[in-house]
Amino acid sequence: MKKKHTYGFSTKAIHAGQKPDPATGAVMTPVYLTSTYVQEAIGKHKGYEYSRISNPTRTALEDNIAALENGKFGAAFASGLAAIDAIMYLLKPGDHVVMSHNVYGGTYRAAKFIYEKYGLSYTFVDTTDIENVRRSITENTKMLYIESPTNPTMEITDIRAAAKTAKEANLTSVIDNTFATPYLQRPLDMGIDIVIHSATKYLNGHSDMLGGLIATNDREVIDAIRFTQKSIGAILSPFDAWLCLRGIKTLPVRMDRHNENAQRVAEFLAGHKKVKKVIYPGLPDHPQHELAKSQMRGFGGMIAFDVGTYRQAGAILKKVKLCSLAESLGGVETLISHPATMTHASVPKKDRITSGITDGLVRISVGIEDVNDIIADLENALR
Ligand SMILES: *Cc1c(COP(=O)(O)O)cnc(C)c1O
Repeated sequence: MKKKHTYGFSTKAIHAGQKPDPATGAVMTPVYLTSTYVQEAIGKHKGYEYSRISNPTRTALEDNIAALENGKFGAAFASGLAAIDAIMYLLKPGDHVVMSHNVYGGTYRAAKFIYEKYGLSYTFVDTTDIENVRRSITENTKMLYIESPTNPTMEITDIRAAAKTAKEANLTSVIDNTFATPYLQRPLDMGIDIVIHSATKYLNGHSDMLGGLIATNDREVIDAIRFTQKSIGAILSPFDAWLCLRGIKTLPVRMDRHNENAQRVAEFLAGHKKVKKVIYPGLPDHPQHELAKSQMRGFGGMIAFDVGTYRQAGAILKKVKLCSLAESLGGVETLISHPATMTHASVPKKDRITSGITDGLVRISVGIEDVNDIIADLENALR
């Protein structure tokens, strides 16, 4: 019997969840700017009642991310943090979460200053060593929440081992897959229960919207997530869903170029005498280079490098021309930032230094410009 043909990633990125508009034949999914939908009779409608519950443009994106992550279900939110918020509603007061110590700063802030107020508790551990996870599980632990690679020190967690450990202890496993995207890393295939994304970054890829996405294979989880969308309302708008769908169509070609450019920039920096240290999973001296190779199909566009002092970092950031000094990441343009005073300013200095975020650390989100132009800009700034 002939094996059924299944579509590759790039084809799914362009087509999954989308078909020509049944009303007009429009090839692109329209932006359905409507709050409500006419019903033929009481309870008789085409599957849409009110746009907080569902909207066809958002549905297209939700089905698209599900397909890209090899999941059955997807959900879209107004921001990455709104998606993370929806995950926390899966828990109840008294529940305990084991979380990667280097998670996105906003995730840490929400955990410490919002969810703990409502009775959840968190233990932050270095999940690059799964033993730390095992040791932190108590009888109240309900969730393991990891991020890999992390920001900005590019720590890699063994995703298969994390999923297995969670399963053995009956925990829901969650990963923030923002840095890798489903093109480079598909955690559901490695046994993780729920994937979340800040779609604001690589998925959209053009720095022109904010959004959050969830993908899962678990029917119970998606039902709870949909109930949260309906009840709390932090859903993605139709226009932002459309921008994100449009961005995702080029995700594979963009990621290939991000990988290539970042590798070249990392090698350039590693060979520069004013650079003390370069952190990029694609360099053989990265402590988890082999692990990254075993669970990612490329190393992504994020690099951190240490130039020794705050003064030196400041001088470089002031001198760059092509690289823009800004927070955020994952767009087509190269962005450069200083984690200690920007993204991680709220982390106490002692904790910041122990997690590797030194005063001389500079982070680059390598864009898809001509790589020689990016290198020339950095070379000039380092001089
Ligand atoms: C940006 C980011 C978030 C938060 O997403 P928003 O869309 O800004 O709310 C979460 N996780 C990671 C890894 C991020 O980079």
